[in-house]
Amino acid sequence: MLRQLRPRSAFRQSPAKLVTAIWESSRTYAGVAAPAPSANLQGIDPSKLTITKTTTPASLVDPKQLVFGRTFTDHMLSLEWTASEGWLAPRITPYQNLSLDPASCVFHYAFECFEGMKAYKDSKGQVRLFRPTKNMARMNKSSARIALPTFDSNAMIELIAKFASLEQRFIPSERGYSLYLRPTMIGTQRTLGVGPPGSALLYVIASPVGPYYPTGFKAVSLEATDYAVRAWPGGVGDKKLGANYAPCIVPQLEAAKRGFHQNLWLFGKEEYVTEVGTMNMFVALKNKETGQKELVTAPLDGTILEGVTRDSVLALAREKLAPEGWLISERKYTMRELSEASREGRLLEAFGAGTAAVVSPVRNISWKGELVGCGLKPDQEAGEIAQRMKDWIEARQYGDEEHEWSYVVPQ
Ligand SMILES: *Cc1c(COP(=O)(O)O)cnc(C)c1O
Repeated sequence: MLRQLRPRSAFRQSPAKLVTAIWESSRTYAGVAAPAPSANLQGIDPSKLTITKTTTPASLVDPKQLVFGRTFTDHMLSLEWTASEGWLAPRITPYQNLSLDPASCVFHYAFECFEGMKAYKDSKGQVRLFRPTKNMARMNKSSARIALPTFDSNAMIELIAKFASLEQRFIPSERGYSLYLRPTMIGTQRTLGVGPPGSALLYVIASPVGPYYPTGFKAVSLEATDYAVRAWPGGVGDKKLGANYAPCIVPQLEAAKRGFHQNLWLFGKEEYVTEVGTMNMFVALKNKETGQKELVTAPLDGTILEGVTRDSVLALAREKLAPEGWLISERKYTMRELSEASREGRLLEAFGAGTAAVVSPVRNISWKGELVGCGLKPDQEAGEIAQRMKDWIEARQYGDEEHEWSYVVPQ
């Protein structure tokens, strides 16, 4: 029976034919009535954008009172997609509830992916996005992996820029503040059949946010999780799928129960260090034999989320730290290696990297009953590299340093 479900000939076909074969077979088996994708589907057309402004603009929240992801702006950007037509005209409307059929596939089989990016206000009052092409490229990879539609990145950036510009009164001007943008895509097809969604919704909402550390850096304590894994080779841990996040909350609560701020994700019997919570992890080490200083992060082997901040830290390290004699490495490293380096005074610092906090210094890691110190003195909240990285990245985010990473939103 199994052999019949899997036509052997399909594996000898070209990739394009194979995709069609998978599409056809999933349509048949899942009973999904979605039409097959046609070659001349509409792409996203920013010139078709319609804007319906709210008649009840919200009053601004005191920036100091902002809690991450709790306050939203007046509007949202939405685009619908159907398998027969492609992308329909984009709309900016008042922020509102969605109305979805309870059988929509997003609720049953987790057809959802998202992005996290920010808009900043520079000293001249201009709105800027930070490396938006990276977020859009990543979103396309995430959506493609769960059979949701892909889109033209530049067209989407143009629309997000228009949306951010419309909401600019919500972006506080103070340093450390920004507008967090949440592009989200969901499968909306009304079906309990497991198959490729015949319709989807891409929307973007925006939330004004304050600095992650309002009173300066605060180093965190981590618990290495040894009873659960976040991602595995051949899995989808390198994609920003909603389905990856809910299962991470219990290990995080477990760590919190024992007094730790976050959990550290390990992989395999070697206990490779992968990510910290929902941030990429960096460590600064001194080589045992040569004394060579090395900034290390795990390689993109499919178990690591391709962070935009991670990429920015690596690029800045190659630009500014390598000339100072640092070795910059994307390589596997283990908890054992960190523990040994810590005991020998060679673990200089450790930090997480992600859009929300930029960098988040780590004080220590609880591992197998041992508290691995990460190089900070008791009265110190950040290492030198973490501090410099935050300054370098923010200079480009806020446009203090004119750089190609910063996308100035047209007024
Ligand atoms: C989003 C995310 C990151 C950080 O990515 P940035 O683009 O730097 O914000 C790291 N790890 C995980 C698991 C993530 O979801």
